[in-house]
Parts: sequence; structure tokens; C-alpha cells
Amino acid sequence: MSIRKTYTPWTKEYGAETRAAQGDGWRCPTTGAVPPPVSMGATFARDEQYRTPAGLAYLRDQGTPGYEQVEDVVAGLEGGSDALVFASGMAAATAVFQVLPAGSRVVVPQTMYFGLTKWLLEFGEQRGLEFVRVPMDDLDAVSEAVNAAPTALLWAESPANPTWLVTDLAACADIAHRAGALFGVDNTVPTPVHTRPFELGADLVMHSGTKYLNGHNDVVAGLLVVAPDGADDRADAISGQRQAIWERLRLHRRLTGPILGPWEAYLLMRGIRTLYPRMRQISASAMSVAEHFSSHPLVTRVAYPGLPTDPGHKVASRQMSGGYSGMLSLHVAGDWQRSLRAAEHCELFIRATSLGGVESLIEHRYTFEGPDSTSPKDMLRLSIGLEDPADLVADLEQALERAAKDTA
Ligand code: PLP
Repeated sequence: MSIRKTYTPWTKEYGAETRAAQGDGWRCPTTGAVPPPVSMGATFARDEQYRTPAGLAYLRDQGTPGYEQVEDVVAGLEGGSDALVFASGMAAATAVFQVLPAGSRVVVPQTMYFGLTKWLLEFGEQRGLEFVRVPMDDLDAVSEAVNAAPTALLWAESPANPTWLVTDLAACADIAHRAGALFGVDNTVPTPVHTRPFELGADLVMHSGTKYLNGHNDVVAGLLVVAPDGADDRADAISGQRQAIWERLRLHRRLTGPILGPWEAYLLMRGIRTLYPRMRQISASAMSVAEHFSSHPLVTRVAYPGLPTDPGHKVASRQMSGGYSGMLSLHVAGDWQRSLRAAEHCELFIRATSLGGVESLIEHRYTFEGPDSTSPKDMLRLSIGLEDPADLVADLEQALERAAKDTA
């Protein structure tokens, strides 16, 4: 049951920004409260005929009204037909790999969120998945890997954490579908504000809702979204596979229980209301920070797809609109220890992992990821927040200068 539909139905379809701001127009059906209240029930009372008023029986099975709202809204923003909320981004991403039949072959990026690579290495192989890692900016390599043997899934993340390598999503969708494989995209970093993977042929979109969707560093959450049938000719050819995996994913969540608490679902929805203005501001600030340090004597390279000099700029400009998101990495000149010292000297940039919140964060990924890390040692990952970009630039300037003095 959709509470929105029983209270103040909208008479027309509004655009994404309006849908996000008003949470798709949901109200409390009893009091009209804006926004609707958090329903904390894990179980729901049945009437004499054994029915429940909203068709919900148990939190792990059907969720709570707050799930339905956030799933409706995110499916709408992505242009998908349905969404499922999960306990974390990792719970959502690994669900996709866990519901594939044992022995399935999957092609994944060489560069992507470190945790997912680690899960594939630790558990994927053990579960009989054959996975092949490819450089996603080399379409010949992607095609060769996908066509080398029957492949169930091609996975992409663009721009990819933590080097912001750009993947041509439309070309990858084509490669996957020609080979009869599904195409899944981690859209955490660009968000639907900047990239809409279904319009480029994706079958599944995944989000760490912990990041920009929530946007306040106070919730861990994840989401999966499925493409609508008929959205794209290339994707239509495998709509049967897509529907089948979606049913498996719903069952997986129901039976294994990687679910979000009702309060966290509420906070996630609250964050999504301001997603569009946050992303506009964050992407503009990230661009000005990137531009400032792109010709700086203490920085050898800035990795940011918004810079015309970035190797991914051309493709990013084609598939991203309104900005390039808020993630960039600085490669610090000199001994690599200098990058660690620079992070130490920051005052506004907080030395913390994660990304996508209102507070700017800085991280030496190599140190965080440990000995298995493939992150360059001279690299500092920045998540740009909502502070004044001039303050952020000044904070980095003084930190780099002090680090250069320390290590001179
Ligand atoms: N995908 C990307 C791009 C991420 O950066 C992260 C976490 O940093 C994840 C997925 C995993 O999300 P979560 O931490 O919510 O499990």
C-alpha cells in the first residue's frame, strides 16, 4: 500500500528535483504530518481475517512504510522501475554477486571500491564465482574479457574510487548485452544528479546510500535499483534475466536479512530531499579545488574527471551532466611521506574515511587500505563538502606548505 496514493495524490509527474525535495509527496495518512513519521514496528497486527492494514507483516519480509517511500523516490530519481533498500552499500553490492548461480563468471573493474574487491577475493572465489578484473578504460580489454567465456555480469563504477577512472557506460552496456550478460553500475559517486546509468543501458544500479544520498555522515545504507523494461533496446534483449535476478534479490534480502532500521531509512530519505542542491554546490566546489591545484608546484597531478586534462574527461562529459561530483585525488610532489604529513596538517579537511557528506574529508588511501592496497602512495583522496571552497583551498595550501617544510 502506498500511503502517498491514499493521502494527497499528485495530479502529474514531477521532475527528479521536485520528487526528491518533497519525498514524492508522502504524508502521514492519519495526521497529514510533513514528513511522514517513522514507523518503528518490526511486526504488524492482523485483523480477524488475518490481514494487516498496509499489507506489511514483518520488517525483514516486506519492510516498513519508510522503505517504500525511499525506494519509490530513488527508483524515480534513477529512472528505474523498482528499488530495494539494504543495510549498507556492501550489503547491496554483494547481494548481486551472491544471487548469481555458483560457477558464474563475472567481469569487474581493476579499479573500484576496495571493499568490493576484497569481498570478491575473500568470499567470491570460495562461492565458486569466477571473476576477471579488467582496466575499464580499455574497451578492447573489457570486450575480450566478457567474450572469453559465457559471462553472467559485467560490473562498473564511474568515476571509480579512489583514482576516479572513468568508464564508458554506454559502450560497456553494449558489450555486456551483445554477450548476453547483465550490466550493473555502482552509481554512488556521480549520483543520479550527474549520471543516469539506465539511460546508458545499465540493468542494475547500486548505491552506497551512506555517501551522497544521505549526505550527512550519520547513516550507513545501500540501495539497488532495476531498469524498466522498454527503456533501452539494448537492455530489452535480456529483460528476462533482469527480472529473474531482481526476484532473487528481493528474496535474498527477505531471507538473509541485510535490512535497514526504520530510523536509518528516515534519515536516508531526509538526506535525499536536499540531494540536488548539495550536489550542485559540492561539484562546483570540487571543480574549483581541482582547478586551483592542477597547476600547483607541490602537486604533481590532480585526478578529477572535470579537468579537461584528465584522461577520462571526454567520456565523463558525454555521460555526466551538471557537474563531475565531489571526489578528487591529489598526487603530492616529493617523497610520498609528504602526502601523509599534508593530511596531518589539515584543519578543515577531516582525516576520516568515507565520502559524500557535508563535511570535507581527506584520506591517505594507501595507509587506510593496508598492505593489499593498490592505491598510489603519493595520493590523497578528497571528498569535498559544503564549506566555502576558498576556505578549503586555503586549508590545503597551508597543509601542503607545512608538509613540504617538514620533509625538506
Ligand atoms: N561503493 C563505493 C563507490 C564506495 O565508496 C563504498 C564505500 O566507501 C561502497 C560502495 C560501500 O558502501 P558502504 O560503506 O555503505 O557499505
